[in-house]
Amino acid sequence: APELRRTRTRSVCCYCGVGCGVLIDAEHGPDGSRIVGIEGDPEHPANRGRLCTKGRSLPQTASSLSGRLLAPELRHLRQETRRPVDWALALDTVADRLAGIVQQHGPDAVAFYISGQLLTEDYYVFNKLAKGLLGTNNIDTNSRLCMSSAVSGYKLALGADGPPTCYEDLELAKTVLFAGSNMAYAHPVLFRRLEAARERDAEVRWIVIDPRRTDTAAMADLHLQIQPGTDVALFNGMLHHLIWEGRVDAAFIAAHTEGYAELKQLLRDYTPRMAAELCGIAVADLIQAADWFGRDVAALSLYCMGLNQSAHGTDKNLALIHLHLATGQIGKPGAGPFSLTGQPNAMGGREVGGMATMLAAHREIGNDADRAELESLWGLPGHSLSAKPGLSAVALFEALRSGRVKAVWIACTNPVHSMPDIGQVREALQQAEYVIVQEAFRNTDTVPYADVLLPAASWGEKDGSVTNSERRISRVRAAVPAPGQARPDWWIANEVARRLEARLGPPGVAPLFAFDGPAQIFDEHRRLTVGRDHDIGGLDYPRLDRQGPQQWPFPAGAAQGLARRYGDGVFATANGRARFHPTPYRPVAEATSARFPLRLLTGRLRDQWHGMSRSGRVPGAFAHSPEPGLRMQPQDAARRGLAQGDLVKVISKRGELVLPLELSDEVASGTVFAAMHWSGQFLSSGGINEVSQPAVDARSLQPELKHAAVRVEKA
Ligand code: SF4
Repeated sequence: APELRRTRTRSVCCYCGVGCGVLIDAEHGPDGSRIVGIEGDPEHPANRGRLCTKGRSLPQTASSLSGRLLAPELRHLRQETRRPVDWALALDTVADRLAGIVQQHGPDAVAFYISGQLLTEDYYVFNKLAKGLLGTNNIDTNSRLCMSSAVSGYKLALGADGPPTCYEDLELAKTVLFAGSNMAYAHPVLFRRLEAARERDAEVRWIVIDPRRTDTAAMADLHLQIQPGTDVALFNGMLHHLIWEGRVDAAFIAAHTEGYAELKQLLRDYTPRMAAELCGIAVADLIQAADWFGRDVAALSLYCMGLNQSAHGTDKNLALIHLHLATGQIGKPGAGPFSLTGQPNAMGGREVGGMATMLAAHREIGNDADRAELESLWGLPGHSLSAKPGLSAVALFEALRSGRVKAVWIACTNPVHSMPDIGQVREALQQAEYVIVQEAFRNTDTVPYADVLLPAASWGEKDGSVTNSERRISRVRAAVPAPGQARPDWWIANEVARRLEARLGPPGVAPLFAFDGPAQIFDEHRRLTVGRDHDIGGLDYPRLDRQGPQQWPFPAGAAQGLARRYGDGVFATANGRARFHPTPYRPVAEATSARFPLRLLTGRLRDQWHGMSRSGRVPGAFAHSPEPGLRMQPQDAARRGLAQGDLVKVISKRGELVLPLELSDEVASGTVFAAMHWSGQFLSSGGINEVSQPAVDARSLQPELKHAAVRVEKA
């Protein structure tokens, strides 16, 4: 038998923001290469060798070519079937169509919708293509659905994006406040670290704030089962209690913050009793939570989509950060507000500015000096970067639907599953003049809308880097070559950009897209960060290979990155002071009514990921939750004449879908829950976003995917 060569490659899990290090085992023989095994990397500081069920099953998602896109495909007319073509024809066609649309309608007629699952280098090239070459800021990502409210909260309160904390704080915290995070499911490896820390220390207290009794909530010392969307009232009530009990850190407030007096004035109204009534919880429980938070021990908050996916997500983030600022629980071991990133590289995408509301290296679109600096760094003529904010996710698809945007390039994401109110997204893609979809998998809900389909390399086949939830940059490495004609995402964007540069004329003196690989892209990216809050001038691939994953900032001359930010009490604002913002409680965007009397909550299952294009390929991933379902409290079901297993219609103002009913005490009376993962691939009636609603937070522009008013009827 021909001999097989075996390799072991150090890389990172592609699923979530924990960013676990992995060792990928591959076999290479005369019939090609394949990934055959995985282990947690014992040397990676995020996971120290551990992996969760999703991470452990990655080889099963990578070993089969069934369902993979292996060649570019295109069609000239919508009613035609796409046919396979070679790369040269696909790339030339895309460049011709985009150049034509830009010449006829201007650069803002083109938009990009990319992904927090792209590598930093992929993101960098897309962002430079949109903003540097075409001159449009119409590039947004599915990170808008994930972390934008956390970003707004950090920037407004602390002056800069990114958490002040690190994973080591999980083991040092004495009070742990989980807000809108089912961490046992969504960030399991970090949750195990917390569990181990609690087993070692009887002083540790867990408070979980969640309208649903999740597995995380079931393990808490105190579960505050609040009414959906009332988080701000709760945080305000907790801070009221601490202020009027004299338990805030007056010296820290005076030395390091501003805006406290205005906030205190607002909080006068938020007595614990008033706040507890709004939240639908016992006043004693609110006071207990505040007392544990205000103990003279380290307090850490861990929060996720329950705060972010809200029409008031920025306020929710701010109100939680206020608790930390007022008690001085920030910048020291075991303490601070810690947003848990949903996607594996949402943070890396923001570092390169790959969103509609920011520029590269945490620069601002509306800041003249920031634009001028970036023009100089990219070798562009003055005033060539657009000062007009681009279209964020929801607005982008609305503009496609109305015809303002003519062409969209979607990469590594499935908006026909993940966007709110997907009926409108389908309409937008039908209306669009030109739809480019760049994907690894053939069966996503978005692929049927593609006029051109570009096959992308996937996990285990790509080189680059990602940044995890604690600001740690890790190298991602290819264990096997990409199958068929699939290519890395950066390469596809770079090839189209080079052709566009030829057709439209280069904006600068030197070509913008002469990249020959991810190392060169990373080098250009890091040069742009020098002097910025996330300066990584001291990091390059050789150093990451030598020293392993590193946290930012890591400026030139540093021996290591910074584990914890703001330890000196100096924040990233212009005057160095953190800022309190008045945060009045406002209700959810869509109130219940006689026609839509139930509150629909959405969330994750333990072993599935997003729209299941990857995890749905693993039979074992269905063992924990084999079927979709709508969870409803037994008494609510009985009142409607419904029983376990009945097929029910979930109906909102926007659409409907059919699900089997699951009786469950995890939801309170008046609320129902459905998982976000099941999509049109698995359900004839489409996924839960048939009924979700697109109201967005005014500052973060993140939609309220977590809550909608619905009614439930027997199907
Ligand atoms: Fe992958 Fe996240 Fe699981 Fe780690 S915790 S193995 S990064 S899915």
